[in-house]
Amino acid sequence: MRVRPYHSARSTAAHVYHEDDDCPAGKTLAWFDKVDGSDGCEPCTMCVRTAAECPDHPAAAAVS
Ligand SMILES: [Zn+2]
Repeated sequence: MRVRPYHSARSTAAHVYHEDDDCPAGKTLAWFDKVDGSDGCEPCTMCVRTAAECPDHPAAAAVS
């Protein structure tokens, strides 16, 4: 399911944010390790992949 952007609070974690709570990478984050917002992080490639499944919002249209 698509959610508001969140990322890891750890400075040692990858600087990516997630937008899907089903993301395998996002699921590895503990509840206390999640911070709202994208905070200058890169979009998670696994989240991008799940978001691209939406027929109304194909990945090609999201690329500027
Ligand atoms: Zn992700």
